[in-house]
Amino acid sequence: MPGRNHLFVPGPTNTPDRILRAMHVAMEDHRSSKFPEMPLSIFRDIKKVFKTTEGQPFIFPATGTGGWEAALANTLSPGDKVLACRYGQFSHLWIDLATRIGLNVHVIDAEWGEGAPADRVEEALAADKIHEIKGVLVVHNETATGVTSDIGAVRKAINAAKHPALLYVDSVSGLGSIDFRMDEWGVDLAVTGSQKGLMLPAGLGIVCASPKALAQREKAKCARVFFDFGDMMKANATGYFPYTPSLPMLYGLRESLDILFEEGLENVYARHHRLAEGVRAAVKAWGLELCAKAPHWYSDTVSAIMVPPGFNGADVIDVAFRRYNLALGAGLSKVAGKLFRIGHLGDLNELMLMSGIAGSEMAMRDVGIQVTPGSGVAAAGEYWRKTAAPLAARPAAPAAPDAARPAGKAAKATAGA
Ligand code: PLP
Repeated sequence: MPGRNHLFVPGPTNTPDRILRAMHVAMEDHRSSKFPEMPLSIFRDIKKVFKTTEGQPFIFPATGTGGWEAALANTLSPGDKVLACRYGQFSHLWIDLATRIGLNVHVIDAEWGEGAPADRVEEALAADKIHEIKGVLVVHNETATGVTSDIGAVRKAINAAKHPALLYVDSVSGLGSIDFRMDEWGVDLAVTGSQKGLMLPAGLGIVCASPKALAQREKAKCARVFFDFGDMMKANATGYFPYTPSLPMLYGLRESLDILFEEGLENVYARHHRLAEGVRAAVKAWGLELCAKAPHWYSDTVSAIMVPPGFNGADVIDVAFRRYNLALGAGLSKVAGKLFRIGHLGDLNELMLMSGIAGSEMAMRDVGIQVTPGSGVAAAGEYWRKTAAPLAARPAAPAAPDAARPAGKAAKATAGA
């Protein structure tokens, strides 16, 4: 199909050309004396994205799922009890992983479309007088439903219950796009992947661990080799890895951090919010509902849009892809068929996102959903136009090359030629 593919799944996201070029490197000796410079700069700088000074980052050649496992296996033992909130497919999958590595998972189920119920976390912890619960697992941004949870509120709940449990947070589809405050929120283990806000291909599972989390390593008896924090810490201290690192991914990550810092993290978050508000304006104009049940849960990285009863979200996605070369996110598990998702994170601006909104609108009409043609595009466009930053003064146009030349001379030169 001619033209480009319009990628609006909520990860992998568009990889900027700058990152692709940075990744296009010849292989080199990862044990050379020069090599450590680059990883050491990454370890230092990625902490700024997690907003931590004390946390220790770990970069595994894996994905977010590997990050989940690394966070749990390095800090817990088989049979340990953990409390986990479930309100979407990714919180569900983390619970499944925790169960399969031998943890005793107590699940707090919330409706899909809601976020982490901090009050119920507090209740469960307060009832745990003998501190059997070793950890609380929360997904910051539930990609399946487009819901962002208040991690600060979960920390407050743990503190209110005066409970020593570690706080484990998945910010796979949040970090680098929406604000994350590891130190302020008292997050003990933060997990992310490379293919979302960091704008890289999938291939890195990144975990940041607090000093309190690292102190659990000796006691933690879950089996781990590839994901062992201890091996990583020994090698990382001097800028090396315990096994062969993925060089392109590391060079790409270096470039990704540079790009984020050049824009400024707070500007990145503001851009994501503004883009998301435009999508939400489109959804409202279509007369449709988000899966997220209340504005305080609206995600700035992904919108899960409910299709009207009698329609199948999968049909919208199929037509969008086959007819318009537009990739939308599917409804997963419990919400399969009930919605489609527009990912709006990473390297993105208004007009790029407009293609996702326009294509969704066309695909919905193709399958018979009677949204008014142009309504979503108009709503998003007007929102973005009205909230655009004021233009800086227009730079003076450069003088035309002939402008300084006396007319007579120029005419003579032409005549003589
Ligand atoms: N957690 C969340 C919130 C996700 O969105 C995803 C993937 O989309 C994962 C975890 C799993 O990450 P990965 O597919 O990189 O293993």
